[in-house]
Amino acid sequence: MNGGMAGSGAAGCVLCIHGHFYQPPRMDPFTGRIPDEPEAAPYANWNERITAECYTPNAEAGHFGHISFNLGGTLAAWLDREAHATYARIVADARAYYAAHGVSNGLVQPVHHTILPLARRRDKICQVRWGIASFRHRFGHDTRGLWLPEMAVDLDTLQILVQEGIRFTILSPEQVQGDLSAGAGPYRVRLPNGGGEIAVFVRDRDLSNNLAFNMPDSAYVDEWLRDWLGRRCTGGRLVLIATDGETFGHHRRQGVAVLGRILAAAAGGSTSQPPEYRPAVPYLLTTLGQYLDQHPPQTEVEIIENTAWSCAHRLDRWAVGCPCTPGDSRWKGGLRRALDNLACDLDAVYVNETRALGLDPWRLRDDAIAIVLGQVDGMAYLSGNGVGHLTQEQARRLLLLLEAQLYRQRMYASCAFFFEDLERLEPRYAIGNAVRAIALTRYATGDDLCHGFRRDLRVPVSGRSGRNAAEIFDTILARAEI
Ligand SMILES: [Zn+2]
Repeated sequence: MNGGMAGSGAAGCVLCIHGHFYQPPRMDPFTGRIPDEPEAAPYANWNERITAECYTPNAEAGHFGHISFNLGGTLAAWLDREAHATYARIVADARAYYAAHGVSNGLVQPVHHTILPLARRRDKICQVRWGIASFRHRFGHDTRGLWLPEMAVDLDTLQILVQEGIRFTILSPEQVQGDLSAGAGPYRVRLPNGGGEIAVFVRDRDLSNNLAFNMPDSAYVDEWLRDWLGRRCTGGRLVLIATDGETFGHHRRQGVAVLGRILAAAAGGSTSQPPEYRPAVPYLLTTLGQYLDQHPPQTEVEIIENTAWSCAHRLDRWAVGCPCTPGDSRWKGGLRRALDNLACDLDAVYVNETRALGLDPWRLRDDAIAIVLGQVDGMAYLSGNGVGHLTQEQARRLLLLLEAQLYRQRMYASCAFFFEDLERLEPRYAIGNAVRAIALTRYATGDDLCHGFRRDLRVPVSGRSGRNAAEIFDTILARAEI
């Protein structure tokens, strides 16, 4: 990359576009099917619609071979099943990038898009390990980068990343303290108590937001590059645009074409755009893993803990509610308390069962992602983990409790807490996953955890309908027929 920008001198820069691609789990946890989502018409659900508008056209244009990206676990699994050609193209392009550059252009995403600073430590570890294993499973290689859901960050989470072999992540400038004159960095963040260090890339917030929210028409990309990138593009430094991947085609219709032109306009650009198109600003393209390899951090910064990129009220949006959403969002605190108490109860049953069998409950859970990914069936997984001595009944109970732990993780998908009202689909999915975890636990051991959960759910109330979450729970329970 160094010296590759012939003739551009100090006027140029290196640009990385990072797309965060994610959809929440939309399946009914009892049937595994996505209920009809009428707002997504003419498509049956949002996954189908966003695939048609964004994932497929970007994949077909070869964009996943030129940008830096992370692809959510639940979305990847859905694409693999329901839009396989698109999935296969994304995977093939990422594999080709790795083969060509010896470094990945993908980043791990914690599997259930949990707000990690709000999770307990063993759940942070689980989400990170499941994310790393999923990435390896899909792409056939490792990456050293991890995308923090909503960029929510604390030092404890960063320390876990380092322990699990991750070397870098992305933050927004308002989450970092220090001299940010080196553009996107990377910067060094030292971790306390001898916890080592991690590299942090800092996105250009204004540039990212301008592209996402005031995207030019594709005919005006050159002007946009000159007016917006031009000001930042000096001294060969790194400029990072990081935004939702769905910006390109779903949130902004012209996004696929605009992304194509930005990629093609780079010096040595190699997409399907016509070669005669040349920008007013000279820049090279890179990806974060590649750039870090060639430019180790020179400057140290500190992070501002318990912050995120999409809410200026620390983590209130996902913890207790905040003014980012209209109306009364206090239901968020009540729902989180109910889920936390239930998680405690579910864990107590699971730990009792595993410890009685002489097993390490959390190691067993962390490695069980192999079952979720279909790499191994449940019985083979248990034998492979030295649990071959169990009776059939013990194995059955243990596998049900492990499955309950999967739905317990899914309860915490960040989207449940992101929007304004408790009656929306996303909080209902959280409660639905909780009901599924409760049902599996009852099948396994006979323990019925409904009562305490339902009691806690009487606290959060929908501002829209006036119904409390216990009433929503009753509806889901009645339909689930457990
Ligand atoms: Zn907020």
